[in-house]
Amino acid sequence: MKYTLQPDALFATYSEITPAYLTEKGIKLLFTDVDNTLAPYETPDPDDAVKTWLASLKEAGIKVVFVSNNKSPRLDRFNQTLGLAACPNAKKPFVGVLKKTAKEAGTPLFACALLGDQIFTDVWAGKRLGILSLMVAPIKDKTTLFFRTKRRLERPILKKFAKAHPDHIDLSFWKIKE
Ligand SMILES: [Mg+2]
Repeated sequence: MKYTLQPDALFATYSEITPAYLTEKGIKLLFTDVDNTLAPYETPDPDDAVKTWLASLKEAGIKVVFVSNNKSPRLDRFNQTLGLAACPNAKKPFVGVLKKTAKEAGTPLFACALLGDQIFTDVWAGKRLGILSLMVAPIKDKTTLFFRTKRRLERPILKKFAKAHPDHIDLSFWKIKE
């Protein structure tokens, strides 16, 4: 594997990823995950904070594309009042959908970034594409064994991240103590 699975940056919440931050990095298109990145799984609609954040990106000329591994009904509902580009069943960490979308938008990959809450879907997809891979602490996880296992597998990667970035966010979500 010629890349690491470490995110390029880790944030406590999506709202810390400002238009200024993205613009400074030359980003014109932000692929973003929805579940646990912008809203909890069980919240069908975007709240005002999400709407404000998305509006600020639009204002700055940054396109937003929802890329979710979740199904159409969830994504359609979330996107109902927003009307943004949306790719359900995106099959992250596979990158076919992302590549095609960037191409259709006419945005070169170096001007794209990907935001999400999971290493083995979101960050991995971003790394495969070689684009800026931004990670947020999950809003609220499901408590199934599947999810607990995924988070446990993320732990060593984030421990390494913490070492390399002394000013990292609180990692207690992953039960990483220092
Ligand atoms: Mg997610």
